[in-house]
Amino acid sequence: MNYPAPFIDRMVSLLGKEAKDFFSSLQQDPPVSVRINPFKPVVVFNGSENIPWAERGRYLPTRPSFTFDPHFHAGAYYVQEASSMFLEQAWKVINKGNKPLRVLDLCAAPGGKSTHLLSLMNDDSLLVSNEVIANRNAILRENIAKWGVANVAVTQNKPQDFEKLQNYFDIVLIDAPCSGEGLFRKDADAVNEWSEKNVSKCSVRQAEIIQSAMQCCRTGGHVIYSTCTYELEENDCIVELMLQNGFERVLIPNIADGIVSTKYGYQFYPHKIMGEGFYMAVVTKKQEDDIVAESKNKSYRNNPSFTSIAATYLDCPDKFLFIEKNNQLYAFPERVMQLYQPIAVNLYVRQAGILLGTIKGNDFTPSHELALSVHVRNNLPFVELNYDEAIMYLRCESLRLNTTLRGWVLARYQGLNLGWMKLMEGRINNYYPKEWRIRKQKS
Ligand code: SAM
Repeated sequence: MNYPAPFIDRMVSLLGKEAKDFFSSLQQDPPVSVRINPFKPVVVFNGSENIPWAERGRYLPTRPSFTFDPHFHAGAYYVQEASSMFLEQAWKVINKGNKPLRVLDLCAAPGGKSTHLLSLMNDDSLLVSNEVIANRNAILRENIAKWGVANVAVTQNKPQDFEKLQNYFDIVLIDAPCSGEGLFRKDADAVNEWSEKNVSKCSVRQAEIIQSAMQCCRTGGHVIYSTCTYELEENDCIVELMLQNGFERVLIPNIADGIVSTKYGYQFYPHKIMGEGFYMAVVTKKQEDDIVAESKNKSYRNNPSFTSIAATYLDCPDKFLFIEKNNQLYAFPERVMQLYQPIAVNLYVRQAGILLGTIKGNDFTPSHELALSVHVRNNLPFVELNYDEAIMYLRCESLRLNTTLRGWVLARYQGLNLGWMKLMEGRINNYYPKEWRIRKQKS
């Protein structure tokens, strides 16, 4: 791979003698890593090497075919670059006392950090996972649905829209769009798109994004800022802007050799740790704000017909409130409803809680999100598929199964739900979403 000359010059001036090791690490294959979903009851990648800064992060010795692993489609794990799991260390420093938290992931797609946050948060906390770009928002919703938890709302808003929620969030994560230098050995497009002009453009955009983040972060709350680049003007310089605006730096204890402390944050380099280039810093808001977004306490009463649908399909339905919108029925955890109300009023919500399914007259069609939810009732009818059947199911092909079950039945693989089938006399309808299906041929 040929790197742009100005990039080489910048890295040499940043790293000095170490630049040689840095560039030779870019010739090596990137490590493969995953983060295991604590909510899905299956053991995967047993015996793999732990990632020092993430309890459920694992390095894999070789790259398996994730596409042809039914556990991947069931949300048993998320394929994620190791350095970015450092978010867990920031979380540990901030989250003292296990209080209910309002958490915002402002630039969230495809969902690596949102699914990580959901694994770390308690049930009384709410995650707002936001992605402004529509097609990336769809991927985010898919990954959130696979993760299977309910205390999350996915929004599709510009960062400025969050300024309506002044002083609201306890934690705001900005995993900012950046020049992507840290991904050079994984992504040739990142190299081709790199230019000094683009670095400056990214820096300007990041400076705009933090303005909104600073406003919607509450006094005493935290902003976690990260990028996958080495550029000072996209990293420490952006953090400095927050420090000049009523924020203070928060230190993260040293967890592994090779993580480099910069003026305000932590930098990961591929020649010093097993992972890609990454930067993270944490700051806390000191400045007092007079305007505070209200968290209204509107009372809800569940519609009995929704309650009866929920009783069929959900474990502990009494812990949820049901919302119907355009014939779609959603279940939202009651304990975080109050935190969600200002989100519902002020933002463009694309998905909240669990989409249970579609109501048409007296008919109810359960949704795919429900099948993947950890709250789906455990004793619903299911068929355990073998590996070949699971792959056929995930390809949306027709199945022949030896079963007398009829009606809505869960397709399951090694104890994990993959989705729904409708079983009728002489016919099985495969309800795996067409847009999610495996298209690739096995080599
Ligand atoms: N946090 C994600 C994860 O861990 O999977 C990765 C986020 S990626 C580095 C940055 C995201 O910011 C992209 O999904 C991109 O679409 C979004 N983005 C692009 N321009 C933006 C803008 N002006 N404001 C906010 N987000 C933007």
